[in-house]
Amino acid sequence: MELHWEKAYKPKRKLYVLRTVAANGYEEFCNENGYDWHIRFDSIYRPLSNRALFYMPEKMTESGYSRLCGGLELGYSDMDKLPADCVSVTIPGFDVVDISGFDVALMEDIPRLMANAYSYAKLYIENEKLHVVSNHKLPYVCYMESANSLKVEIPVWSKKTKTEEMLTLDNMSKRDLYELAYRDSTTGFYNWTWLKAKLEQCEYIGLDRFVFAKFDIKSFKLVNNIFGREVARELFRHICDVLGHKDWILYAAKCEKDNFAMIIKDMPEEKLYNHLYSLFEELGELPSNHKYKLFYSCGIVAYDENETINTDMRIEDMAAMAQNLCIKNNVTELKLYTEEMKHRYVMAQKYKVELPYAIENEDLVVYLQPKYNPQNDKLTGAEALIRWFYKGGDILSPQYFVPQFESDGTIDIIDRYVLRQVCKKFAEWKVLGLPLFPISVNLSRHQIARPDLIYILCDIVDEYGVPHELIDFEITESAEFSDMSYLIGVLNDIKAQGFKISMDDFGTGYSCLGLLKDMPLDIIKIDKSFIDGIAVGEVNNKDMLMAKDILTIANHLGIKSLAEGVETFEQKEYLKEWGCHYIQGYYYSKPIPIADYEYLLKKAALGN
Ligand code: C2E
Ligand code: CA
Ligand code: CA
Repeated sequence: MELHWEKAYKPKRKLYVLRTVAANGYEEFCNENGYDWHIRFDSIYRPLSNRALFYMPEKMTESGYSRLCGGLELGYSDMDKLPADCVSVTIPGFDVVDISGFDVALMEDIPRLMANAYSYAKLYIENEKLHVVSNHKLPYVCYMESANSLKVEIPVWSKKTKTEEMLTLDNMSKRDLYELAYRDSTTGFYNWTWLKAKLEQCEYIGLDRFVFAKFDIKSFKLVNNIFGREVARELFRHICDVLGHKDWILYAAKCEKDNFAMIIKDMPEEKLYNHLYSLFEELGELPSNHKYKLFYSCGIVAYDENETINTDMRIEDMAAMAQNLCIKNNVTELKLYTEEMKHRYVMAQKYKVELPYAIENEDLVVYLQPKYNPQNDKLTGAEALIRWFYKGGDILSPQYFVPQFESDGTIDIIDRYVLRQVCKKFAEWKVLGLPLFPISVNLSRHQIARPDLIYILCDIVDEYGVPHELIDFEITESAEFSDMSYLIGVLNDIKAQGFKISMDDFGTGYSCLGLLKDMPLDIIKIDKSFIDGIAVGEVNNKDMLMAKDILTIANHLGIKSLAEGVETFEQKEYLKEWGCHYIQGYYYSKPIPIADYEYLLKKAALGN
């Protein structure tokens, strides 16, 4: 029996397609080699953001399956950006890239979006000839996890593949074509193409005021990882079913990945929010496991043809922009698109362009916010915080660029710059004989996902000969790390190099207590939001109790604690009484220029 790797209908994508002729193909191979695999129909439409990779473990070629080959899809929004070592061949009707001439090709910069895909993949292709069969049906997909936990997605053709002639467009009924174009393959529900067509029709059918909303499932990766793809698919179907039965929703569709969109009747704001909250409550748990709670990020655009909103942005982009600002964990968020949002976004794009020049011009400056021991009011170290002296004048607060830079990885540049500046200073202070207290630098989530992180950090710190224990990396808790063991692995690597680790903004995020015992933390930083509640309002209010409890737990686990954003004497006194080790906040000092901090070091050297 033959298994074919074939071409799926994929507009605007280049697709590798290879053929396999092994007896039971992947199924048997996976079973024999203990690989985890699932079959599903649709994933070729949902590759990694714009690229998917194919990976064949060396083991595979050793094990007598040398004739097995896989398909690789490379979807590029910009067709000119294919890897230079790929040779293009033309096959009528399709854009196909022939890589069969390369034995081993290294694919670099594989998006790390996919869980665990942190290592560079070796692309190994047997000397198979490229084989293309035009076919519009979707292939099965086989998931395989290799020993080094690289997850791969490989289209595997159904054994029941129809013949080529049966599937030519001419032979398809209008209905088939319609289904193909307007239905989502996982759920059978309408897809984005369909909804978009509806959106365009709105003005023709006299619908000049309506609401457009787009939403996705928070921490969806977790659902996928914990319960598997079948459960995730079932969830999608359930959501579609619910959306399809609401009379206040005019049209709804399942969009890319775990996104859904809808056109909603115009109604008063309060009513709209009530509807949406009750919808998300109804969708608040996994159909197959009611204990597992689900939360959503929903971006909303109120469209009014007469008033409306600028025309240079598409409505779906506006909704997506609002949706992207829903960043809290474990809570459903609804965000209404505003012009202010757009302004911030546009500004962030501008800052991004200006960043390299700003660094060159030394417009980016590191400030240090001292940390104190509340028991004796003595200096114990500092946190490095970035400041941007914008156009030589005003200070641009990090809140205007850090969150935006975090979303696309630009933050890495800043974090490394800050680390370098701090190390430079340590080297100078060492020469001056000043006391050296640890300084913490923020480590963005984006950096944590880099496979080469530890080398980057050590390179910078070692270049200045700074003892590792003087650097404390602040990380934030986050559900982004669907693979906790990966995060813990990274932290262990950092720790093994002698660096310190602080958990920033503790208490605001996800599954905080569970995390504590498994993570190699030195310090937890209790978020300012808890501190704000201390010594205001009732004694022993919720915030106060929380702060106290966190301190107790940290103490039990042998982790030191730091309170952030302490502004008053009373707050400090409470924290001191509860045994908090360090305090950082305006009560002691705002973030200050390095020269001012140096002055504090000199004072400390003299014993004050
Ligand atoms: P964060 O890491 O939680 O830093 C603490 C923030 O709280 C700082 O704001 C600090 O100025 C402020 N703060 C400290 N004490 C007090 C207080 O008593 N009262 C009040 N109201 N605020 C206080 P900042 O410098 O504006 O930074 C904001 C956020 O930007 C930081 O929050 C951090 O998430 C991010 N950030 C700043 N610099 C960097 C950086 O170099 N790298 C990365 N990845 N993020 C950075
Ligand atoms: Ca911080
Ligand atoms: Ca913080």
